[in-house]
Amino acid sequence: MKRLLPTSTAGSLPKPSWLAEPETLWSPWKLQGETLAEGKQDALRLSLHEQQLAGIDIVSDGEQTRQHFVTTFIEHLDGVDFEKRETVKIRDRYDASVPTVVGAVSRQKPVFVEDARFLREQTRQPIKWALPGPMTMIDTLYDAHYKSREKLAWEFARILNQEARELEAAGVDIIQFDEPAFNVFFDEVNDWGVATLERAIEGLKCETAVHICYGYGIKANNDWKKTLGSEWRQYEEAFPKLKASTIDMVSLECHNSHVPMDLIELIRGKKVMVGAIDVASHTIESPEEVASTLRRALQFVDADKLYPCTNCGMAPLPRHVARGKLRALSAGAEIVRNELA
Ligand SMILES: [Zn+2]
Repeated sequence: MKRLLPTSTAGSLPKPSWLAEPETLWSPWKLQGETLAEGKQDALRLSLHEQQLAGIDIVSDGEQTRQHFVTTFIEHLDGVDFEKRETVKIRDRYDASVPTVVGAVSRQKPVFVEDARFLREQTRQPIKWALPGPMTMIDTLYDAHYKSREKLAWEFARILNQEARELEAAGVDIIQFDEPAFNVFFDEVNDWGVATLERAIEGLKCETAVHICYGYGIKANNDWKKTLGSEWRQYEEAFPKLKASTIDMVSLECHNSHVPMDLIELIRGKKVMVGAIDVASHTIESPEEVASTLRRALQFVDADKLYPCTNCGMAPLPRHVARGKLRALSAGAEIVRNELA
């Protein structure tokens, strides 16, 4: 029988201090060339080991092989000039200096496929791989070529589909697209956001997921959250379209957040990765706190479709905090699993 409530993380985990500056988001590499390539593989092994020790069921590379969840992918594409930078408002929230789209975008060679193959060699457990979603990609660039967010998103969806098909062939069980932009641009989500996501997963036989969150615990995000009021109903805007979509799983922020849990009812039928770990706090949840979040979610998602998870990535956390949170996630899921048995 399939194990109920399989645990996983939404994405990134802390990097070792010899690879990148600890407790820093998008920290630059400390190694170079061949040494960096080897260092990334060693860090991937460590990250996998820590997930396994904590009893995580669906494992990942902990994003040890990338510096940034969007731009590392884009760096490998043609048509984007990383020297030519413009300041744009990201997620309608904060200014950032971003690269410029200067010509037709294309992918000449695989980006993460070798890394995924390496992870596949290390374990027989199910593995999940994260890619940026089309809408979040266009929102992290200045476009001087297509001059249309939608047009560029369709181009990226086509490129993501090429990468996703090769990740699937490399043995990835779940491909996840990170779309924090889905929590901001509701009209675009409904006009073409979900459609471009479906283009990105076209023809895949492995499972597919979309991760929609309120971001890392950085100041710009924390300030934004303060403006959202006592109930965060952003998910309500995208959920009907997502429910009708071909995406298999939806990864959400639920713990310590102001998201009303009953919104999950709107995607009834989908598998739901319920965030039961707060990534914006260094306080390690107790297993009972995790269990309580999962129990509340069970009112709106069938037990065989509930996947306990973290709210978002844990890259900026101290390593011992991230380890503690992984263990709490496992232990909390185990409590509820026993109750369901
Ligand atoms: Zn996230």
